[in-house]
Amino acid sequence: MIKVCKFGGTSMADANAIRQVKSIIEADDSRRYVVVSAPGKRFKDDIKITDMLYRCYNEVVECGNCAKSFKIIRERFVQIVKDLGLTLDIDAILDKTEQEINEKKSADFSASRGEYLSARIVADFLGFEFVDASEVVRFDSHGKLNEDYTDDKVSNRFAKTEKAVIPGFYGKNFQGEIKTFSRGGSDITGSIIARGVKADLYENWTDVSGFLVCDPRIVPEAKVINQITYKEVRELSYMGASVLHAEAIAPVMKRRIPINIKNTFKPQDKGTMIVPNDQYNSAENDSVITGIAGKKNFTVLLIEKSMMNAEVGFIRRVLSVVEHYNVCVEHLPSGIDTLSVILESEQLKDGVLSDMIGEIRENVNPDYIHVIENISLIATVGHGMARRMGTAATLFNALAQANINIRMIDQGSSELNIIIGVANSDYEKCIRAIYNAFN
Ligand code: ASP
Repeated sequence: MIKVCKFGGTSMADANAIRQVKSIIEADDSRRYVVVSAPGKRFKDDIKITDMLYRCYNEVVECGNCAKSFKIIRERFVQIVKDLGLTLDIDAILDKTEQEINEKKSADFSASRGEYLSARIVADFLGFEFVDASEVVRFDSHGKLNEDYTDDKVSNRFAKTEKAVIPGFYGKNFQGEIKTFSRGGSDITGSIIARGVKADLYENWTDVSGFLVCDPRIVPEAKVINQITYKEVRELSYMGASVLHAEAIAPVMKRRIPINIKNTFKPQDKGTMIVPNDQYNSAENDSVITGIAGKKNFTVLLIEKSMMNAEVGFIRRVLSVVEHYNVCVEHLPSGIDTLSVILESEQLKDGVLSDMIGEIRENVNPDYIHVIENISLIATVGHGMARRMGTAATLFNALAQANINIRMIDQGSSELNIIIGVANSDYEKCIRAIYNAFN
């Protein structure tokens, strides 16, 4: 039995948390490969080490060195090593790190050092081998993970290693430069290692006891999801549920390795099991829907043209304009003579929106284009929905009763997901209404 365990920033935040990590690892001999994040927040207004490291990079660019910001980082790591009672020469490691950040002048390199330093300390504390992620995780020249190469590297490297600690969040490209994943990317590293060593289970240890049905800041009594499928998690993570990075699913999905989201500070809680569809046991969940997640600030371009359906290439021409502006399309619900293009408002700043509309007008000559801004998208996810009649009715009834005006509806073809668009000002009310309707 092999388990890969990834510990997030709060599990690394101070010596007490790291002691807790040690007791978890030592409680189960199959917890052989440990992936760690950089120390996160210890209290509400604390600053994550990764954020401090990005500041270091900015300081290097502005002043030629990062002395001021690195001092704070140094103090934190020195304190952790001292409190753990380790003899590791952390000063020497920190000196070298600071010098490299100054010399390399790379945001990715600087940001990656939080995970590197965490892993050095945890390896020493656990008595495990330290294996640098840059040895095994490889990015291509576009900054994309080279999956197959990485998988081979991981499986060869760890075939010889019984127990190891690996820093999350980064790897190396073929030019030898350090590159990071997007924020929260240590989850992806954990998944890659689990795939490469053919783990039986990927345990993702965080500071909550699993995925909640929805954001507890909106619904404080939101329940934990006991079991969920990979695809449902992807939908929820993509739509803003922040427990697990959306890209952490793909690597383990290839080998059907389940993920268990666990709480470092309540290790007895069962957490959430993320499994392939055919391992899903519906008795584990008592509701027809699995989760609700959403994001604010989208813009809808409602394009209307009579006889649109008969015009070959209409949608393609609209989309090629959007592509020209390098903007991602989130959703594309359509009718016979209408097409709604839903885009993230953030990507339409600095005149992009008006230029894009002008170009669409020129390209497809629509009857009109109506722009609706400040829209929130809310996804109600549940792979049981497809087989159950009345789910959509329950949802829409609940929203009508809460007096919420639905601006857009999109049901993915997998019937895993109903996405609705509402005004930003209705966002919280809408999530509460859906939660109450199904729980
Ligand atoms: N430390 C990185 C971040 O704050 C990566 C991670 O924790 O997963 O985003």
